[in-house]
Amino acid sequence: MAEAEIGVIGLGVMGANLALNIADNGYHVAVYNRTVSRTEEFAASAGALSGRITACATLEDFVAAIRPPRPVILMIKAGGPVDQQIEALRPLMQANDILIDAGNANFRDTMRRFETFEGSGLSFIGMGVSGGEEGARHGPSIMVGGTEAAWKRVEPVLTAISAKYKGEPCAAWLGESGAGHFVKTIHNGIEYADMQMIAEVYGVMRDHLMMDAPTIAAVFSAWSTGPLDSYLIDITAEVLKVHDAATGRPIVDIIVDEAGQKGTGRWSAIESQMMGVPATAIEAAVAARSLSAMRAERQRAESRFGVPMQQDRRSGQEVITDLEKALLAGKVAAYAQGFAVMAAASKEFGWSLPMATIARIWRAGCIIRSRFLGEIAEAFAEDPAVPNLALTPAFSAMIEDTDASLRRIVAEAALNGLPMPALSSALGYFDTYRRARGTANLIQAQRDFFGAHGFARLDAEGEHHGPWGGQG
Ligand code: NAP
Repeated sequence: MAEAEIGVIGLGVMGANLALNIADNGYHVAVYNRTVSRTEEFAASAGALSGRITACATLEDFVAAIRPPRPVILMIKAGGPVDQQIEALRPLMQANDILIDAGNANFRDTMRRFETFEGSGLSFIGMGVSGGEEGARHGPSIMVGGTEAAWKRVEPVLTAISAKYKGEPCAAWLGESGAGHFVKTIHNGIEYADMQMIAEVYGVMRDHLMMDAPTIAAVFSAWSTGPLDSYLIDITAEVLKVHDAATGRPIVDIIVDEAGQKGTGRWSAIESQMMGVPATAIEAAVAARSLSAMRAERQRAESRFGVPMQQDRRSGQEVITDLEKALLAGKVAAYAQGFAVMAAASKEFGWSLPMATIARIWRAGCIIRSRFLGEIAEAFAEDPAVPNLALTPAFSAMIEDTDASLRRIVAEAALNGLPMPALSSALGYFDTYRRARGTANLIQAQRDFFGAHGFARLDAEGEHHGPWGGQG
């Protein structure tokens, strides 16, 4: 008998936890996984929730177990597997059923899939989910893209399973088609920038101030009660405190310095470039992960060039005070850039992305949750059309307060050879953004000289060419 109200396909880390979350919220859920043994293990471990779970060994049984019209969440490996799964599932689905891809899809794939469902009687939703394993189990941040009508039908269950910020659900409909997956992509891009900047600041404490991991942990713990208060700062303090049982050393000191990446950071950087919107902090963070992966080359370069000697330095406390503010300044740049990219995408794809809502649903459940996002939500609520967060009163004041610290930290890092690609990109971005008369006049002259591309004059309308002595 079809008693399930919703189905979940994919019982990996995320899918299994999401299914338990759904059951925990009172819904009866049918589950299916390609590898049947995983379904069996899941069913056997569901404990008290097993009464609200129907484990199915075949797709046919799975579909039959859900009451029509069926909402079905796909939580499997992104890319080809999603297309294969849709192909197998689609013939079994009936009019008004809704397929929700909750994996980390590239939003361009989501747009393509959304189009293939249009006019079919079925609906397709591309849903970004953030919060990792813990979020999936107890409340993630949920970013939905699809038709508003399809969202309305699944809104009750999605808001029930989402994280809550002071009682407000962190789930929202953000627009048609690929809107949800696009916003999730930029969320991850910002996450890359946040993490990279934290790592750069850790590097100053470790390699310049010569602090050990537990002492650095105490600094991050102290920061977590101030303006940097966030999940990422909290977990940084946590991981820095943990010791390896085998060696007794801080575990971070024996972890290889090569960062993995699955693509969402890179997609953020690529899409920003495609739209001509600078996202320098995200780009720097992606490039830093790629550089981290070149470990053998870095070892070779260090044996060739050495590591710069640390010069006389200011007192540790002075540097730490500046580091906190520099990190906040870098965060302002990263978020200003990320939101500007979303504003451009909103125009390009006709989504009307609600910026204040996006900031609100990131305040809990997701990896970048922070106090800071509450301030972003307020800034966008006051001025939804502002072109850049840096121009809002609250963030202008934050920039004024942190600017000198960012400058001192970037200068100190440069003089001491400490890598600081993301924080220095933030400074370069601010300094370029706030200068009304930049230096692109020279670039325009060069372009006109070698390619006759023309330029605009300050004192006349129209396009002009330079008197390049006949060489232009
Ligand atoms: P996971 O633990 O590696 O599980 C992967 C799941 O995909 C398994 O159920 C696997 O089934 C299924 N799968 C793989 N290839 C398949 C195919 N060709 N056909 C059908 N099913 C297939 O992955 P996960 O961490 O749960 O991630 C699932 C999705 O959520 C991914 O898109 C990921 O990017 C996204 N996500 C992950 C996180 C996170 O923190 N982990 C956070 C947000 C979003 P088998 O058991 O048969 O192999």
